[in-house]
Amino acid sequence: MAEQRLTRYSTQKRVLVTGGAGFIGSHLCARLLGQGHQVLCVDNFFTGTRNNIGSLLGNPNFELLRHDVTFPLYVEVDEIYNLACPASPVHYQFDPVQTTKTSVMGAINMLGLAKRLRIPILQASTSEVYGDPAVHPQTEAYWGNVNPIGPRSCYDEGKRCAETLFFDYRRQHDVAIKIVRIFNTYGPHMHPNDGRVVSNFIVQALRGEDITIYGEGKQTRSFCYVDDLVAGMMAMMATSPDFTGPVNLGNPGEFTMLELASLVLELTGSSSKLQFMPLPQDDPKQRKPDILLAKAELD
Ligand code: NAD
Ligand code: UDP
Ligand code: UDP
Repeated sequence: MAEQRLTRYSTQKRVLVTGGAGFIGSHLCARLLGQGHQVLCVDNFFTGTRNNIGSLLGNPNFELLRHDVTFPLYVEVDEIYNLACPASPVHYQFDPVQTTKTSVMGAINMLGLAKRLRIPILQASTSEVYGDPAVHPQTEAYWGNVNPIGPRSCYDEGKRCAETLFFDYRRQHDVAIKIVRIFNTYGPHMHPNDGRVVSNFIVQALRGEDITIYGEGKQTRSFCYVDDLVAGMMAMMATSPDFTGPVNLGNPGEFTMLELASLVLELTGSSSKLQFMPLPQDDPKQRKPDILLAKAELD
């Protein structure tokens, strides 16, 4: 026993998770604590909630700091996962300037922290860096098809600039960077008003409200369960320092939004009707990750 405790203590890390009170961040915090690490969760609660981390608050290894990553942060940690950024189109378009600031200035501050402490930092990037992709499925080598001036640009270009900053901090300052490009993820802790498609459809079906299909519902997405995504992020952090990514993380199973709606209706037994609504501008027509690199490097 004593030996086991000693081993755990010696491998225990102090891990900073920005955006830790959000959907994915809260699962990551819980998993890191489960492995015996200390977690410093930093969040400004723009979209995250205390509820998401309610079960972690009593854990002596868990610390919560209300802080906006667009401002400098001086703490002592061993690893950084940078997730802070609203991810639902409804939320990231609410205050688009703040969205870009969060991605860009947040990246600079967290990279500055990683540089000072000489520690690894992982960036939660996104399939949105591929925009409305002309290559299908999307490989990491594809540079994307992104509108720089549309309503989604605050998020897409912010995340693209963050990737640029990560690679420049590596080239210029030798910071140990890791980039994962996350594809659509779902699971517990998505806010009922999150606005993303899986939670919208499920909440609408359970309430007996109309299922809102944007456009004709023929656009596709590929959905990954949050536990698998978090496992992928932690496997990425554990790779050797010379492996930076970017690496796609997601589930290649591809659905149209109409197929997703019928699956939700079938599983909930709901009698909700479909309501067709205008397709938002620049909504990607298709999205599916090529995950050969993740399979090879992360098993
Ligand atoms: P989320 O909105 O639930 O979580 C984001 C968290 O960041 C929230 O807790 C929010 O309060 C916090 N935050 C926002 N701005 C901040 C700021 N300036 N300072 C500090 N905290 C701030 O979204 P999520 O789905 O958990 O996404 C987490 C990360 O993963 C995001 O970076 C997102 O871009 C990325 N991602 C998610 C998906 C997905 O399908 N969920 C897909 C691609 C990428
Ligand atoms: N920074 C931070 N925490 C740290 C170190 C740096 O928040 O522990 C911020 C700092 O405010 C700076 C940014 O990260 O604005 C980038 O740091 P870097 O050292 O690259 O830039 P410099 O300070 O030289 O402008
Ligand atoms: N969508 C929809 N109904 C909704 C919410 C979203 O048909 O109530 C569509 C949306 O137009 C997009 C897809 O579902 O084509 C995925 O949207 P989401 O906001 O979940 O994520 P995105 O991949 O667009 O960032």
